[in-house]
Amino acid sequence: MDVSELLDGLNDNQREAVAAPLQNMLVLAGAGSGKTRVLVHRIAWLMQVEHASPYSIFAVTFTNKAAKEMRSRVEATLKASVGGMWIGTFHGLSHRILRAHHKEANLPESFQILDTDDQVRMIRRLMKAMNIDEKKWPAKQAAWYIGAKKDEGLRPKHIQAFDPNEQMMLRIYTAYQEACDRAGLVDFAEILLRCFELLRDQPTLLHHYQQRFPHMLVDEFQDTNTIQYQWLKLIAGKSNKIMIVGDDDQSIYGWRGARIENIKQFISDFDAQTIRLEQNYRSTGNILKAANHLIANNSERMGKELWTDGNQGEQIGVYAAYNELDEARFIVSKIKAWFEQGNALQDCAILYRNNAQSRVLESELNIQSPRIPYRIYGGMRFFERQEIKDALCYLRIVNNRNDDAAFERIINTPTRGIGDRTLSLIRDCARSESLPLWYAAKTLLAEKHLAGRAANAVNSFIELIDQIEDNILDKSLDKQTKYAIQTSGLMAMYMAEKGEKGQARVENLEELINATSQYELPDEEEFSSPLDGFLAYTALESGEGQADEHEDAVQMMTLHSAKGLEFPMVFMAGVEEGMFPSQQSQEETGRLEEERRLCYVGMTRAMQKLYICHAESRRLYGQEKFHSPSRFIRELPEDCLDEIRIKTQVTKPKTTGRFSNTISLETFNDTGFKLGQRVMHGKFGEGTVLNYEGTGPQARIQVNFDDHGTKWLVTMYAKLQAM
Ligand code: ATP
Ligand code: MG
Repeated sequence: MDVSELLDGLNDNQREAVAAPLQNMLVLAGAGSGKTRVLVHRIAWLMQVEHASPYSIFAVTFTNKAAKEMRSRVEATLKASVGGMWIGTFHGLSHRILRAHHKEANLPESFQILDTDDQVRMIRRLMKAMNIDEKKWPAKQAAWYIGAKKDEGLRPKHIQAFDPNEQMMLRIYTAYQEACDRAGLVDFAEILLRCFELLRDQPTLLHHYQQRFPHMLVDEFQDTNTIQYQWLKLIAGKSNKIMIVGDDDQSIYGWRGARIENIKQFISDFDAQTIRLEQNYRSTGNILKAANHLIANNSERMGKELWTDGNQGEQIGVYAAYNELDEARFIVSKIKAWFEQGNALQDCAILYRNNAQSRVLESELNIQSPRIPYRIYGGMRFFERQEIKDALCYLRIVNNRNDDAAFERIINTPTRGIGDRTLSLIRDCARSESLPLWYAAKTLLAEKHLAGRAANAVNSFIELIDQIEDNILDKSLDKQTKYAIQTSGLMAMYMAEKGEKGQARVENLEELINATSQYELPDEEEFSSPLDGFLAYTALESGEGQADEHEDAVQMMTLHSAKGLEFPMVFMAGVEEGMFPSQQSQEETGRLEEERRLCYVGMTRAMQKLYICHAESRRLYGQEKFHSPSRFIRELPEDCLDEIRIKTQVTKPKTTGRFSNTISLETFNDTGFKLGQRVMHGKFGEGTVLNYEGTGPQARIQVNFDDHGTKWLVTMYAKLQAM
């Protein structure tokens, strides 16, 4: 390949970086300025011009998806395979080194990786053996503590604990680490720390890797934490050359220990030359101008401006939704219109702050006919999430005692002292007597085959389920769900979990209650109860929602997972005070600035069209909240924005095509009630119109009745009166 081809398609500054002599370099530049592109071309340049072997190159990115993409971009540029090149994530590459030198790392050949759930379960077991009360010191909190210390490179012996709480955490850390070492287990944070210590303490090995990788490259450097940076420094040694690319304005993992300061540290530690890129190739003029304007509100910046010579493009659509359902409907209608103009669904991304927000959006995509395929990145579909499955399993067993899968899942969640031995006794009995597990457990109890403690534990589980059933009999579905989640102890268990993940789980449980309050039993199907209908619905939603790998599908993800990606059309949902920026971040400047950077990341994913949505009222986590539009919207220049408002006058639907009911937002159903309008119903009394769907005899209207909650009614029969 001709060298000039490598430099084609690059601007002057990009070329300067790609074709620089062998040296330490920092490419500091804003979103969409071609940092990742420069990194890929630099790898190709090293091979073509500096004759570097693919084995001598060490490239680190942030996610597996990004690593895969980088490899294929390098191969496309070189028109050759680079199988032997080390391209991967911090964890992936460290793991590889540990596998190769497990002996020196004091690990058995077949050492196993503990995922987060395994880790917590193990800590819980240890705590029990040590007689530590989990109610006071939740196992998840200990796991969080251990991870944070390892990310800082700290072993128990390095930590001096003064307050009793930390002393306890330290005791658990020490016991946990001994148990892991005995069993040959490593958790995620351990992979990095162990690899770092291995190289630090084994000069021959370190020498080997330092010799092997004269060329190191790191993408998304602004999100490296302490141990990752130390690890890079170690491998780089005195003579290897390292190129990092990053953007201080896109540092969004401070809450997980990432340190923007590493950028400045790098410049001084490596005496690095800084190259700045200022031309943006991704987004339209309007999107870029708005993003620049927004991020200018942050104080601690390394400072850079972005410009584009592309067109201004359309203004950013800002949609003030009536509520979250209206927001979802708006987004889906825009996606449909886009698709019907011949564009691909995968070119649309819906970004949100919290995973729990996906449920309403998923459900709106699912009820279209034909349903719109979607894929959720870096997260699971709502009904497949651990805490949601736990809660549903309680409802399932209450509904049907023969449900063995549900029984297995929750018999010891939250922990109630039912161990593997008891469970296998129950399983054996079920098998030999051909009984469902529930009845096998009761049989064992009745025949006194269980030891005292186990018998008590199993008995209290059985009583718990019976008690839940007795108490929810004539309650509404949402009250049933709430009661089950609380009485089972699930809510308390997840509330005790520390950190973002625990909070997300609590939010998801509350969102489940919300889902049940919005659920309407379909008229045409036979279900013995709303609970029965709802459980069938969740089974279907979780089974079919997600698109196949190769199917064209809308992309859904949190703002955090969208880092580094780009899409022609982007929707940001729930851009409201209290949601984004989140409630907790509003008190602390540092956290507020991190939220603003996250907003900057979100906006700069968009290439052609960006929509920012906020809802005036939102039911999330089981509560109705009234939010004002996010301060981030107010921080955008007005001339870049197009405020979209629904006109809710009474008009006849214009079209009767497949998608007509959701596309024509200005029109309303045949009855002519407006969103937000007060209405009167013969049986349910007064209420407010929240939503509608369908036309003609299928038209349905959703009303929030003052005394009877939210209901979907077939408009034709509802006999609503305007007030
Ligand atoms: P982020 O900060 O979001 O990670 P980035 O700086 O890594 O962004 P890239 O993803 O490398 O930016 O590039 C953004 C887009 O601009 C890509 O589609 C890329 O192909 C394109 N691009 C980059 N440089 C050029 C160029 N010189 N000419 C044309 N297109 C370019
Ligand atoms: Mg990038």
